[in-house]
Amino acid sequence: MTNTKGFAAESATAPLGPFTFHRRTVGPRDVQFEILYCGVCHSDLHQARNEWKGSVYPIVPGHEIVGRVTAVGDQVTKFKAGDLAGVGCLVDSCRECDNCKRGLEQFCWNGAIGTYNGKDKHTGGVTYGGYSKQIVVDESFVLQVSDKLPLETVAPLLCAGITTYSPLKHWKVGKGHRVAVLGLGGLGHMAVKFAAAFGAEVTVLSTSSHKEKDALQLGAHHFALTKDPEQLKALANTFHFIINTVSAPHDHSQYLKLLNTDGVMICVGVPPTPMEITGFSLLNNRRSIAGSSIGGLPETQEMLDFCAEHQITAEVEIIEMAYINEAYERMLKGDVKYRFVIDMATL
Ligand code: NAP
Ligand code: ZN
Ligand code: ZN
Repeated sequence: MTNTKGFAAESATAPLGPFTFHRRTVGPRDVQFEILYCGVCHSDLHQARNEWKGSVYPIVPGHEIVGRVTAVGDQVTKFKAGDLAGVGCLVDSCRECDNCKRGLEQFCWNGAIGTYNGKDKHTGGVTYGGYSKQIVVDESFVLQVSDKLPLETVAPLLCAGITTYSPLKHWKVGKGHRVAVLGLGGLGHMAVKFAAAFGAEVTVLSTSSHKEKDALQLGAHHFALTKDPEQLKALANTFHFIINTVSAPHDHSQYLKLLNTDGVMICVGVPPTPMEITGFSLLNNRRSIAGSSIGGLPETQEMLDFCAEHQITAEVEIIEMAYINEAYERMLKGDVKYRFVIDMATL
């Protein structure tokens, strides 16, 4: 066991603050690494504040983790001390069910283990995430990180990146498709970059007029302000896909109406309350609504390699660990350009 410094919320209403806990000793198949940067996902906020229920306190959030390997177990083959490494939203799964065998560990039928707030089979407690100095993870759940990209801009790829890459790949989004990205935050800005890289015609649908210039710079071809009913009306029946990244309750039906025939709204955002959808917004144009959750380990590695090859990174604002509570407040206001990343040297 190693004493590890971290940052935790002690309850749903408490601000995050310093917290010391134990990490397990490095086992034969484990990789231990010093965390250099950790991205701040809206899921961290949802769970620190128990918005999805089931949070266990103290909770140490953080699942966009990159760093440098400090030790490996004697059966580890992919990593050695000094290598760069990353960990996303998962640290374990059963590895035996059909989904695990297909590399869809996020859908493990026996319960994938989240990087934080998951059941830790090694300690009998809960898993603690990346707002901390070091982590020990089975090598099967550790990703190889290229040294070709600035490390701090790679961290958000481990969740925001894979969560948007995976559905675009699954639905084979590319040339000839009109794609809308609803919500330009951490996930949204990665969705724009990937959809544009895959050759789609991309429109950002945003509540923030000041994000228009950025949207176009990120690779979007069009921008629409969703608060303006006229702009929405003009886009009726337009899109083949809408990637819905919105984190707060919103009117899905008004956006479904923007889908073309057989269009699909792919929901990756997880607002705290159930969605309400009118039947007519769905049945007209034979529309579908679908969901997608992060991505499995093989696809996450594929996405990281794709990003290294095509120089795709997240737009980040580096923060100190102590700024996290302010960062959460800014995230709630949509005031993030476009991912906060914690410099773990400041912890
Ligand atoms: P984020 O950076 O806070 O971005 C969310 C964006 O949604 C905001 O920037 C804002 O963009 C828009 N928005 C916020 N409130 C809105 C409202 N009331 N109506 C319309 N738009 C609104 O959050 P994120 O980290 O990208 O995460 C987004 C969601 O995805 C969260 O719910 C998170 O938990 C979830 N998530 C899911 C997965 C998965 O596996 N499916 C993985 C990671 C995260 P504009 O200013 O452009 O309107
Ligand atoms: Zn996340
Ligand atoms: Zn499984």
